[in-house]
Amino acid sequence: MFDGPPPARTLRDIPALAAAGLVARQDAAALAAVADRYAVAVTPNVAALIDPTDAADPIAAQYVPHVEELVTLPDEAADPTGDGPHGPVRGVVHRYPDRALLLPTLACAVYCRFCFRRDRVGPDGGTLTEAELDAALAYIAATPAIREVILTGGDPLILSARRVAHILRRLAGMPHVETVRVHSRVPVADPARITDERVAALADGPPLWLLVHVNHARELSASALAALDRLRARGIPLLAQTVLLRGVNDSTEALEALFRALIRARVKPHYLHLLDPAPGTARFRVPLARARALHASLRGRLPGHAIPALVLDIPGGAGKVEANAPRLLPTPDGGFVAIDPSGAPHALPPGVAAAAESG
Ligand code: SF4
Repeated sequence: MFDGPPPARTLRDIPALAAAGLVARQDAAALAAVADRYAVAVTPNVAALIDPTDAADPIAAQYVPHVEELVTLPDEAADPTGDGPHGPVRGVVHRYPDRALLLPTLACAVYCRFCFRRDRVGPDGGTLTEAELDAALAYIAATPAIREVILTGGDPLILSARRVAHILRRLAGMPHVETVRVHSRVPVADPARITDERVAALADGPPLWLLVHVNHARELSASALAALDRLRARGIPLLAQTVLLRGVNDSTEALEALFRALIRARVKPHYLHLLDPAPGTARFRVPLARARALHASLRGRLPGHAIPALVLDIPGGAGKVEANAPRLLPTPDGGFVAIDPSGAPHALPPGVAAAAESG
């Protein structure tokens, strides 16, 4: 795909992307403002998947900065899923009684242009210190209602194998923590990091499920598939989560190709997320009615186990709901009301709910 040899190192700024032919030199000045605001990283593995001659390339769209990121719409929020109020200590989000997120780092191998934590993720400042990690683990240890810990971030699999093993060992010592989930983009974005040491750290800890974030069939490169094989060979169950993104995977064909590729790789498609309205991400929006129609179009084309649940995080922090009735109810004015897990109703912002296709 890549025109010429892929770069040897991760591309972390606009001059590097321009030198690699992934942004036009005349756009470089405008894009520098985007890179000042939101972190940039395109790994050699991802760069190799991009067709630089295709202005609508679905891989480039996910990772290469775009000037529209500088435009924040009124219904976009820096913390669209409302993590903030649910953070008892740094690095923990505890929204549901039985589950807690543990965010040991806010750095990632790549920075996705639609990330819902884009105001916080980046190479600087997000990794917990030893004392902060201790405090986060102490909170989980002292909260017996927590039965599942979700390691997320950032991307926990950019941490060293030693650090991952340390965290999992500490969690294994907490009798109430029955399972761990790891959310990661590393197997597709930087598969070389799925080393034997990291795999062993994951396999030798408490019962663990790995959720791979993947949005397009082309992201399942030969090296990504080999990384998934290494994980599976040690008995780690693999699930996938996908964000529905305009210009990336918003067609029946693109979704079918992705989910077929996943089940061939023996990865169960678990969630298809509607986009969370983070700042500067409007170009990726797929209106709810269209998302539902796309999801429905997969029935009859794919086996049931290849079809993930279509889910939506209620903006503001009320939690995740399946984006099909009865949890999302249309209103007479063309909007939607989401019913959160406690039964409380929440009107969705118009940009999220827009029942008509917006372009
Ligand atoms: S890898 Fe995940 S946390 Fe990191 S930028 Fe992408 S979506 Fe955000």
